[in-house]
Amino acid sequence: MRWTEAAALAVILLGCAQAQTPPPQAPQMPAVPAPAAPLVRPGFVVVLDAAHGGSDPGAHLRSDLQEKDVTLALSNRLRSALRARGIDVVTTRDGDVNPSMADRAGTANHAAAAGCLVIHATATGSGVHLFTSSLAQAAPARMLPWQTAQAAYVTQSLKLESEIDSALAHAQIPVTLGRAYVQPMDSLACPAVAVEMAPLVAGHVTEARGISDAGYQKSVVDALSAALESWRSDWKQ
Ligand SMILES: [Zn+2]
Repeated sequence: MRWTEAAALAVILLGCAQAQTPPPQAPQMPAVPAPAAPLVRPGFVVVLDAAHGGSDPGAHLRSDLQEKDVTLALSNRLRSALRARGIDVVTTRDGDVNPSMADRAGTANHAAAAGCLVIHATATGSGVHLFTSSLAQAAPARMLPWQTAQAAYVTQSLKLESEIDSALAHAQIPVTLGRAYVQPMDSLACPAVAVEMAPLVAGHVTEARGISDAGYQKSVVDALSAALESWRSDWKQ
């Protein structure tokens, strides 16, 4: 799919109001110190950001299912799967709370993450929707503006998205790619991809699966962890 189409789709596909909100007027936020080619690379850490939580339920996926609970369940499952592969994980929330966007970005940037996944869920579409920042790639700088720190990582984020796309395709899960404004992603100083899980609509090789289907969630989590393991191999070189 061409980016122009993908960008138009992104607005349609993103099920949560948060993703459709235009960028806020830049408040006074601190700059993010850019990692300046350290002599000793930090360890490989993945940050998982389960979107919504607390008083923000996200989308109502069914009458008895809120997005905030699905994103937390996915984050918890993925954390276990990654740790089983020996990958360090930092999460932005572990319970039914809603950290601010600044706190979520702060957690990720403090961890100097090698990869960040912002997890959403939606009742529309099929398979998994992947989004990277709509910012244009910018040259690395010693200090990155908080609102657009992601601009220095866009190329890497697209590579990470490609790894995830391949792993999901291998698992025969349909993927839709797009670029979108999804906070806190634009403030993340790391390769970052928003992963929005949708139900699986029946196709040639797939049977219909609901978003809370444990087997379907496991296949998505397995594909994401395989992609991040592959990302770690690339990252170490
Ligand atoms: Zn959402």
